[in-house]
Amino acid sequence: MNELDMTRVEKTMEALRKNNMSACFVSTKAEAVEKVKELLKKGDTVTHGGSVTLSECGITELLKSGDYNYLDRSAPGLTREQVQDIYRKAFSCDAYLTSTNAITENGMLFNTDGNCNRVAAIVFGPESVIVVAGYNKIVKDLDEAFLRLRTVASPKNTQRLNCATYCAKTGKCVSLNDPDAKLGDGCKSEQRICCSYVVSSFQRVKDRIKVIIVGEELGY
Ligand code: SF4
Repeated sequence: MNELDMTRVEKTMEALRKNNMSACFVSTKAEAVEKVKELLKKGDTVTHGGSVTLSECGITELLKSGDYNYLDRSAPGLTREQVQDIYRKAFSCDAYLTSTNAITENGMLFNTDGNCNRVAAIVFGPESVIVVAGYNKIVKDLDEAFLRLRTVASPKNTQRLNCATYCAKTGKCVSLNDPDAKLGDGCKSEQRICCSYVVSSFQRVKDRIKVIIVGEELGY
């Protein structure tokens, strides 16, 4: 695990800003919650992608506070159709909250998804996208982001979600067994969680994506 390196964090934030994303640093999870509060208005319609980081910070609890019109995809008793409906409603939300699989030092977000509702909302729809990420998500470049995905993010998430994938059993992507593997190679499990890959580089809509980097290790 990399150590917190503020020079690296500053460099990454500057690069994100050059790509028309706002970026800020907070030291703690509690400060991340306060920052999210600043970025939301009472009554906003909000929802989020699946994220260990948001839970660890207490941001999902904030969304449940009653101050927001929270579309809760994990509410007890929801049918599959109702969850799908929330996924679609996310596109017209005021704010969509998520973490990210990786942030490159040159200011790109790298994300992958199984259902693809999360990457779809990052790309288009919600008025505002708030990304909360521990400093441990910073990587040198897209190659490192992709390696991080196959050795950290996907194995840990498939273990957490109890998915029947090679990486859940072994801790690494099956594609790493093939020296000639190409981007996108991997298992054919129906529960594969890395089906679509999204790189968010320069954004036309300035500051639609707001990145909060936290000085604590968070999520996968
Ligand atoms: S392709 Fe399959 S084995 Fe590889 S990281 Fe994704 S879910 Fe895991």
